Amino acid sequence: MAPILYLVIPCYNEEQVLPVTSKLFLDKLMSLIGSDKISDKSRVCFINDGSRDKTWEIVKGLCSGEPHFAGISLAHNKGHQNALICGLMEVSGKCDITISMDCDGQDDINAIDGMVDEYLKGADIVFGVRSDRTTDTWFKRTTAQSYYKFLKFMGVDIIPDHADYRLMSSRALKALAGYKEVNVFLRGIIPQLGFKTAIVYYSRAERMAGSTHYPLKKMLALAIDGITSFSIKPLRMITTLGTIIAFLSFVGIIYVIVGAIIGNTTQGWASMTVLLCFLSGIQMISLGVIGEYIGKIYLETKGRPRYIVDESINVPEDEE
Ligand code: UDP
Ligand code: MG
Repeated sequence: MAPILYLVIPCYNEEQVLPVTSKLFLDKLMSLIGSDKISDKSRVCFINDGSRDKTWEIVKGLCSGEPHFAGISLAHNKGHQNALICGLMEVSGKCDITISMDCDGQDDINAIDGMVDEYLKGADIVFGVRSDRTTDTWFKRTTAQSYYKFLKFMGVDIIPDHADYRLMSSRALKALAGYKEVNVFLRGIIPQLGFKTAIVYYSRAERMAGSTHYPLKKMLALAIDGITSFSIKPLRMITTLGTIIAFLSFVGIIYVIVGAIIGNTTQGWASMTVLLCFLSGIQMISLGVIGEYIGKIYLETKGRPRYIVDESINVPEDEE
């Protein structure tokens, strides 16, 4: 029997782009249903991440005229990763496969065919990987590349040039449900699930309308989450650094004592001040890194829900 596919599409303030891309999503779904690759119960499910514009009204309008559209609305804006988790968890019992993608048309919908093929060949997770980065600005391209290298160095296992465009089977979704962390960085968690994976290459287009919701500040927050949610290497590096500095200070002390004994005491205080500033800088950074982890522990111990659903439309009861 053909699998039931749900496209899980988070949307935040996307009133400009949704009317354009929703048609493309539906066309793709219908053509896959038409060729019997997926079941007629498949849907395009929009997750409204607490938008402040007309996004949810648009989704409701789409759903009322077409049963293949579904919508889930979150009570608050919880950010892209949480909206994605919400979508995946809410639909996981209703389908055999999900494909998560952005709603702005940047993820090439034609890669969906390849992903479904890989699933039919036995893969549980299929990663959409960008074949090039030519549509990015020079800044985004270089920072992204250095970031991937840095993550690797930190021992975090992620797939380079893969964002959140991916297929997951219901088996993989069940495994994902076991990861209860509040600080979600899906790109780091999913390769850890194991299972048989495959890669489909696609070329990322420009946004069809509207503008990005990932300004530098949010990108940095995601980047830091990516490291601190998966690696404790920074903490170890602080220990190593502390040891090196302690050793150097010891050598320095011996040098000063020897200097005093042989009467060479004309040291200026400039060198002293520089050293002091340098050391306090290092201490501040180290405290910041430790604070980042403590903050994470604080959020995890509270165990607050990652999202709260306000309303959902055309989302059926669980299969089975
Ligand atoms: N998004 C979301 N919540 C947010 C920010 C973004 O659900 O708080 C969605 C957004 O609607 C889009 C996807 O996440 O479908 C990716 O965001 P965007 O296109 O702005 O990021 P970029 O592609 O520029 O990195
Ligand atoms: Mg985008």
